[in-house]
Amino acid sequence: MNDNMIAAGTVWLVGAGPGDPDLLTRKAEKLIRSASVVFYDALVGDGVLDLIPPHIIRVCVGKRSGRHSKDQRSINDLIVEAALAGERVVRLKGGDPSIFGRANEEMEALAMHSIPYAICPGITAASAAAASIGKSLTLRGLARKLTFVTAHARGDEPLSINWRALADPEATLAVYMGKSSADMVARELMAAGLAADTPVCLIENASLPGERQFFTRLDLLPLTAKTALGCGPALLLIGEAMAHRADKQVMKAPLSRKTCA
Ligand code: SAH
Repeated sequence: MNDNMIAAGTVWLVGAGPGDPDLLTRKAEKLIRSASVVFYDALVGDGVLDLIPPHIIRVCVGKRSGRHSKDQRSINDLIVEAALAGERVVRLKGGDPSIFGRANEEMEALAMHSIPYAICPGITAASAAAASIGKSLTLRGLARKLTFVTAHARGDEPLSINWRALADPEATLAVYMGKSSADMVARELMAAGLAADTPVCLIENASLPGERQFFTRLDLLPLTAKTALGCGPALLLIGEAMAHRADKQVMKAPLSRKTCA
């Protein structure tokens, strides 16, 4: 690992993967070790944070749906200020920075100040979830399309989603940040023509010790999301690919009684 990987006054947006530190890329690990300051969000796993050497400044900018500890503007400002002060900055983001990671806002802020930046990709939650449940997200002839979508609206803005386009029986739908809107997702997809018995898998804390998997169907998704999921990040995978080789147990670990903070 060398200290020169990041030039002073530059920023790397680094994908931290889904949580398991073994799913971090080698490049990400090198970058973390050669930073002078690391800004990380709430989805970055503890095992990944343990890889940050103690002499490196670490700043939690803790964004979690519904309880943002810093707004995006303040995060942009912090990163810009650090880079302008000559720090070697790593902005560590859960999963892949380019997937629902607000990377663009940060890159625009950096570009406005002529701060050089680069991206190191990470394993996105959908890939980690598919690996955990032992299923392929695409299936020849059955699931020809894979769609990543978020069902999370920004502030008070209404969600504008083309449900008809999403209700494709030959696609697998990976819904990020969909836990609290599972009701709406199921209702809208069924209204747009997707069968009520379309297989669904909910994966919470994919790749982490507290991982849990629930196999259900579209019409039972709201109930499953409400009663089974805990406080961890959860992904909804919807489509026929979730039924393929349905040889998994419905539940892998007992329900935790933890309440959400
Ligand atoms: N950039 C991230 C996604 C950020 S959006 C990525 O590429 O994975 C945050 C959402 O990602 C969460 O609400 C959840 O839907 C999903 N997510 C992130 N980590 C997860 C994990 N370990 N298990 C299940 N879902 C996860």
